Amino acid sequence: MFDIAIIGAGAAGASAAIFTAKAGKKTLLIDNDKSMTKRAWIENHYGAGDITGPDLVERGKGQAVKQGAELVQGEVTNLVKKEDGFLLETEGGSYEAKHVILATGVALGLAEKIGVKTKEGTEPRIKTVLDVDASGKTNVDGVWAAGTCAGVSVHTIITAGDGAKTAINLISEINGERYVDHDVLK
Ligand SMILES: Cc1cc2nc3c(=O)[nH]c(=O)nc-3n(C[C@H](O)[C@H](O)[C@H](O)COP(=O)(O)OP(=O)(O)OC[C@H]3O[C@@H](n4cnc5c(N)ncnc54)[C@H](O)[C@@H]3O)c2cc1C
Repeated sequence: MFDIAIIGAGAAGASAAIFTAKAGKKTLLIDNDKSMTKRAWIENHYGAGDITGPDLVERGKGQAVKQGAELVQGEVTNLVKKEDGFLLETEGGSYEAKHVILATGVALGLAEKIGVKTKEGTEPRIKTVLDVDASGKTNVDGVWAAGTCAGVSVHTIITAGDGAKTAINLISEINGERYVDHDVLK
């Protein structure tokens, strides 16, 4: 049983996984390798210099794994609500997690299938997004969302930040107190 399953390992999902795994939450990061970020050439991501989308995505996934996240390549085809969490179904097998963060980019099919409410998108070419509250929660108890699918501005610095924000809010809810992750220079 994972504490947190993150579906989608683009900028939002991998960023969320860095935080949840580093916070000691048993984290599953699952991705079907269709990140829009892999088509980008990026010159506007603070601190990263000029970087290709594929490099940014690989670095993000690597950072999440380094913090202890389990990275699985596969497509989540269904999410089934269980008594104490969710069953994530993929072609390669199933996984159990207490909480889920959807970070599926432009893909909303899975969220719609499990009854997550949607609303009109505000960003160019993004017609529909998931209806999340300010913390990143959807209307389905235990299911959170971050990044493009959650309606934020479609830029890597913002989707990555939104993944981090949602992860921090979920960690805080699980811990019962506000969470902060600050390492201090030795
Ligand atoms: C051509 C192009 C150029 C761009 N250039 C820039 C730029 O210069 N600067 C900038 O800031 N932004 C740029 N962007 C935007 C940037 O890519 C996005 O803002 C942002 O990175 C999207 O992050 P995300 O995590 O929300 O989505 P994505 O990176 O798309 O990640 C979503 C992930 O979810 C996975 N997924 C979806 N459904 C499932 C499922 N059911 N099971 C498992 N996995 C699933 C997908 O495989 C994907 O890896 C560009 C985008 C494009 C397309």
